[in-house]
Amino acid sequence: MDMNESQLYEFLGKYGIRTPKTTSVGLDSKISFDKFPAVIKIQSPKVVHKSDVGGVVLNLRSNEDLERGRKEIIENLKKHNITLDSKDGFIITEMVDGEELYIGCVEDNTFGHVILFGKGGIYLELYKDVCYVVSDATEDEIIRALNTTKIAKLFEGFRGSSHTIKEAVSLIQSVQKMLKENDDILELDLNPLKLTASGLVAVDARIKRGAKTYHEDMKRENRPNFLDNKNVAIIGASTEPDKAGYAVAKNALNFTGNLYYVNAKGGKLFGHTLYKSVDEIPCDNIDTAAIAIPAKFVIPTVQQLIKKGLKNLVVITAGFKESGHAAEEEELARLIEKHNINAIGPNCLGFYSSETHLNLTFGTDHVKPGSVSFLSQSGAILAAQMDRAYELGIGFSHLVSVGNAMDLRTAEFIPMFNAAPECKAISVYVEGVNRGRSLCNAIRACKKPVFLFKSAKSEASAKAAFSHTGNLSGNYAMFEGVMQSLGVNVVDNLDALILAPLFKDDKKIAIITNAGGPGTVLTDGITARGRELFELSEEDKKKLDAVLPAVWPRSNPIDIIGDALKDRYENALKIVDEFEGLDLIYMIISPQDMTDPLGSVEILVENKFKHKVVPILMGGSTMDEARRYCLKNKILYFDNIVDARDTLC
Ligand code: ADP
Ligand code: MG
Repeated sequence: MDMNESQLYEFLGKYGIRTPKTTSVGLDSKISFDKFPAVIKIQSPKVVHKSDVGGVVLNLRSNEDLERGRKEIIENLKKHNITLDSKDGFIITEMVDGEELYIGCVEDNTFGHVILFGKGGIYLELYKDVCYVVSDATEDEIIRALNTTKIAKLFEGFRGSSHTIKEAVSLIQSVQKMLKENDDILELDLNPLKLTASGLVAVDARIKRGAKTYHEDMKRENRPNFLDNKNVAIIGASTEPDKAGYAVAKNALNFTGNLYYVNAKGGKLFGHTLYKSVDEIPCDNIDTAAIAIPAKFVIPTVQQLIKKGLKNLVVITAGFKESGHAAEEEELARLIEKHNINAIGPNCLGFYSSETHLNLTFGTDHVKPGSVSFLSQSGAILAAQMDRAYELGIGFSHLVSVGNAMDLRTAEFIPMFNAAPECKAISVYVEGVNRGRSLCNAIRACKKPVFLFKSAKSEASAKAAFSHTGNLSGNYAMFEGVMQSLGVNVVDNLDALILAPLFKDDKKIAIITNAGGPGTVLTDGITARGRELFELSEEDKKKLDAVLPAVWPRSNPIDIIGDALKDRYENALKIVDEFEGLDLIYMIISPQDMTDPLGSVEILVENKFKHKVVPILMGGSTMDEARRYCLKNKILYFDNIVDARDTLC
């Protein structure tokens, strides 16, 4: 049974959540309250949002006032066609003064219990200054989440406020405890929560209880190591260049382990025998198989591979759940689970691991080893980023296309990447997320930075608007908030997935530019993203004086003036490159009459600079030659300042 407001106040008290002095009265019983000013409110299951129907009268100074307030409410309700009966009544509470905040909780389809905290009052949904944490969030996560809100300043001495962040943290922790002990809370809404001189006091409460719907899947223990591949088979290795099986067979050629190709037609491919069946492979322990054969042959082939000790499976073949064949996919999933096999796919682009140069994808064969592990729920986005990364000289430690994700998902890969020394950062592209708690747990345990882009942001909330919490949950903002609380770098630009990890440690930045405006715009971008401009010492300036025109402004951004040619960029760069305590150098080239874009980027190949130097080639086709030169020479560059800024996160 749902609790009414006065029962709820008592319940909140058990968890240390303060509520004002309160009493309940009937429809016409005598009122005798002793804490003024006071508030009278309707208490009825027929009314959810009381003030919407004139069910709250504030600032009453005597018992007579309270009686008048009660009459007023009865009249207001009549106008809304709400007739009260003996089950209905009123609640009287003392008025509490303070800024209006809010705390709520929802039982969400993706994450289970999520707690929301932020600016409250009747305009809660308008301000949306709210943060989100899962119900088992650590104190660090709570603080990180709180710091994403504007109201966090109220707990840091804003305008002389004496409140500390600890007050907000311990309130959230009280709700965490309440949820732990009351699994059946579906929604809780304390709005407003007044920030009084003596702490937080809830002056309104509603709760919805019932059977919870979120259940975490059972985690499969003792999985083999997906990244451990010595003997690899490619089933469906094809001699026809327009087949995925051809591309996979070709891309896998650099693998440092043993490679076996299977094709029912037999013959040879790239100097390898094409075995006519899995049984013919002269190896009895196949660790990993990539499958690119028609869907109907997949299950029988996996059964044969099981006899060869299969541990890891990459199902490239499409034609399962995504095209209406869910039953076949479920059968495959059951089979691999029964035999404790790891699988990605079906319907995926494949897998790459730099350690053994294993490229089991049908994306580009140009993949460079690097330090970013990139996992994508879209094969096309992965293929596009692989292609782009290669041109910009960026490498990967691992690439994973999870496809339909019948088995392994992001939550399982994060611990693997975390344990792999070659991986320094993890980038994830996700569309839908289920088993959100396992994702949270994986991220919480991960020591490496995680960058994440989520699409399908406009997915509507599935919850009805019972409460403010319901209105603010189940959407992208909640997903983003939970991820931010876990320290994830949520990016809003796909390129940031491959570029942002490369810039993550660049704190102090120098800008060499041939114009003032772009330097200022980039400075704004850098500082907005929490990075700093490197400060030039008098000595640094003197060194630059020797190679720059007398009119240079003697500060960073280092404006080398519009008539700068190749040599001036080069001279300035050589000096800046020697500065200590600098992490990154941007070189802005804007098109002015005498600018030599091509020459100015050639110096990046002609010299070996100690620092990372990244050109920003601003403008139109004037920059084409320079851009082509960069691509050909695998020099990372940006087309504009916004792109450069957006990779700093
Ligand atoms: P509802 O949210 O159902 O409309 P509330 O109980 O939150 O009703 O009351 C509406 C508004 O009245 C609150 O947002 C708050 O601004 C004010 N209010 C209600 N109770 C108190 C109180 N005890 N002290 C101060 N203000 C109050
Ligand atoms: Mg309210």
